[in-house]
Amino acid sequence: MLPSAWEKKLVDRNVHPFSDKDLAWEDYVLISAMSIQRESVKTVLDRCRYLGVRVIAGGPLFTNDPEEFPDIDHLALNEAEMTLPPFLLDLRSGHAERRYTAAPRADITTTPMPLWELIETKHYASMNIQYSRGCPFDCEFCNITSLFGRIPRTIRPDQIISELEKILSLGWKGGVFFVDDNFIGNRTELKTEILPRIIAWMTMNNHPFFFLPEASINLADDAELIKMMVAAGFITVFVGIETTHEESLHECTNIPNRNRDLITSVRKIKSFGLEVQAGFIVGFDKDPATIFERMIEFIRESRIATAMVGLLKAPRGTKLYDCLITENRLMNAVSGDNTDFSINFIPKMNYESLMTGYKKIIDSIYSPRNYYARVLQFLKEYHPEQKKMFHMQWGYVKATVKSVVVLGLLNKERFHYWRLFFWSLFGRPRLFPLAITFSIYGFHFRRIFEQHFRTIENKGSTFSSS
Ligand code: SF4
Repeated sequence: MLPSAWEKKLVDRNVHPFSDKDLAWEDYVLISAMSIQRESVKTVLDRCRYLGVRVIAGGPLFTNDPEEFPDIDHLALNEAEMTLPPFLLDLRSGHAERRYTAAPRADITTTPMPLWELIETKHYASMNIQYSRGCPFDCEFCNITSLFGRIPRTIRPDQIISELEKILSLGWKGGVFFVDDNFIGNRTELKTEILPRIIAWMTMNNHPFFFLPEASINLADDAELIKMMVAAGFITVFVGIETTHEESLHECTNIPNRNRDLITSVRKIKSFGLEVQAGFIVGFDKDPATIFERMIEFIRESRIATAMVGLLKAPRGTKLYDCLITENRLMNAVSGDNTDFSINFIPKMNYESLMTGYKKIIDSIYSPRNYYARVLQFLKEYHPEQKKMFHMQWGYVKATVKSVVVLGLLNKERFHYWRLFFWSLFGRPRLFPLAITFSIYGFHFRRIFEQHFRTIENKGSTFSSS
């Protein structure tokens, strides 16, 4: 979307260290970020200010909280398709304003493909592409609908195929993540136009990718759609289970999750060969004191290996945020990290009970004993149909060797690691790479939560309500 005459360099701070050298040749630094990258953004801004480089910013973090960044030279907010063109026109004529906003949504069928040449694929575990924006549901705690609307907008099948071709031409083979907040927002189009094209393309190209999307739980109601996704090369789906307590689901108006047997839905999706990863939330007003035990039990029973449990947060732009302001319960901005021990409002449940209960869930579901047992149960019941689930890459070999050293030799969880290692290697060798991946995920989850918990302890208290 930027002028082709501009010389461009991409610094993705997820995988790239950042130094003043990166700024040495810049006329402008353009920053795009989400809430979780707030602190990272501040360090970049400090360096830009120090070196006198002008900054242009856009993306969800700045669209939601523009007042938090008074030093940024230009803000192209909302969707870049709408605000970058007028900004660039004004910039060229020397009259660029500080802030550009646009209420109308972009027509993403005309959005150009990203400049894939700017990244080095070897730094990534998966490539990211986007098929749609917006979600037909309207969960109280989610700001997707305020950012992108309730009518899903989608790109054309030709755009997806061109992008897949492009990624393949970079030499990439492996995971491609659909970043859409709800991949199945337009199920009819998926079934009639998108998936048939992807299936044909994948077959023609000997299945170079496997796909991972995020979708609402009502995917379980559409067997035809799941079968087509599996045929297209989808191996995993991340769903928001949110909570196992029906009254809390009603509280957050999460339409697809209400009035259904959530475990049966998870099992149904899995029965077609899709692994279900899931997000859970505690801290709803209606959560009973037993919610923590029930959550632990649900995760064990559903065999969801990758279960991400977070405390409820109220980001700006959500109905929850507005409601908490009215009730005078809002405290501060969200950290953007949905796994830290922070909450930005006064909960109905006693604060110490909520935090202690949350820690109990984390300690239980990620303890090596429980985690590896869940993974083993899941793999025993998992019979994927996909022809190719993994592509041999140097990065995977390195990760496996590292896991042997760190988890198999140095770590106290080694007994569980070796049990899974040998069970998968000799019992279900096709799932061996997945078993190693889960082992690494488990280590990652434990480490992240230990860091968060240490941060709380270092602040001098465990869970005091101050
Ligand atoms: S279904 Fe997911 S993306 Fe859609 S509004 Fe609810 S939480 Fe947000």
